[in-house]
Parts: sequence; C-alpha cells; structure tokens
Amino acid sequence: MGFERGMVVMREARIALSKCKEGNKIYGVRFEKMENGWKYTWAFPVKEATAKREHYDETKIVGQIFPDSGYPGCPYCRTKDFVVCNCGKLNCHNGNDSHFTCNWCGLSGTLGSYDGSGFGSGGDL
Ligand SMILES: [Zn+2]
Ligand SMILES: [Zn+2]
Repeated sequence: MGFERGMVVMREARIALSKCKEGNKIYGVRFEKMENGWKYTWAFPVKEATAKREHYDETKIVGQIFPDSGYPGCPYCRTKDFVVCNCGKLNCHNGNDSHFTCNWCGLSGTLGSYDGSGFGSGGDL
C-alpha cells in the first residue's frame, strides 16, 4: 500500500432497521459516522425476509444520532424521530404519548432521553 496522501476519505456508513407502528412495517435507515455522532441520511422500505437475510444486527451504532437536513423520514409515517428500545432496535417515534411500546419486542414504558448506548446495525448496501 503506501498511499497515505491524496486518498478519498470514505465516511463509515451503516444501515439500521426501524419498525413503524403503521402496519408494523420495517424500513432501513442509513447512518453516516460524523465527528459528534451518527447522522441519518436516508430511509427505505425493507421486507421482513430481507431484513433477516441481511444481518442488520451484526454491529452497533453507539453515540448520539441526528437527522441530515435532507432526511426524508419514515417511508410509512414520515416521522424523523426514533425511539431506541432496550432491546437494541429502532422504532418510529410518531406519537405525542410519553408511553411507548416497542414494535419489535413488545416492551413498554415511559420514554426518557436517549443516552447513546447503541443499537444494532449492519453494513451499508
Ligand atoms: Zn413510521
Ligand atoms: Zn424492544
């Protein structure tokens, strides 16, 4: 190797899955690693069978998350907010209710602020 200068810097990118309570549907969210956390830039519908096959839970995204200005939102309900469950998965945050039930594991409780402890993710497409 030895090409230390003039290389293109590739931003680390990952895909995490989120579930929307509208129809209990799954979508993928693309995250890019930034200096101060992970910026989410894109969302796209994913079929349940694909989600299982692609191993979207092999790695973890740890740190604060925030949307890119061009982030389109959930493909189903258009929300740009997530709830990170204790099970390590993302859900749409699309209600005004402070009481939350996870669409993946069924855990329910009162929402607190996300501490950046992480959730599952996989490689970029
Ligand atoms: Zn949604
Ligand atoms: Zn859960």
